[in-house]
Amino acid sequence: MCIFCKIVNGEIPNNTVHESEHFLAFHDLHPKAPIHILIIPKQHVDCFQDVTAETMGAITEFTQEVATKVGIDKTGYRLITNNGSDGGQEVNHLHFHLLGGAKLVWDHTHEDAHRSL
Ligand code: AMP
Repeated sequence: MCIFCKIVNGEIPNNTVHESEHFLAFHDLHPKAPIHILIIPKQHVDCFQDVTAETMGAITEFTQEVATKVGIDKTGYRLITNNGSDGGQEVNHLHFHLLGGAKLVWDHTHEDAHRSL
């Protein structure tokens, strides 16, 4: 069972922000912004490439609720999903990083990007 499925099952503790029948939002262990929340479907899906449009529709609404709940719906935020090896996905259970609470820098380049400038 993957680490996020263990969180859903209550086998690993988490700092829950918001929960519904199908989705869970909890604070990232290693925040990269003042607000850094992970949003996952409770049912295991490996990655974005495998998710259905139906789940995406529902998780969109859930994510909007989370943003409102933590007070960044008006100030803005970034929503990221890393897909697969080149995308930098480390946990193979679909998750969206909701980042906010400050002006975010944009530096999602590949490791050779600066050398080719
Ligand atoms: P990714 O690189 O997109 O797969 O992101 C995985 C994220 O999961 C990282 O930001 C980790 O800090 C986070 N993470 C890993 N284990 C836990 C955990 N037990 N609770 C909260 N966040 C976690």
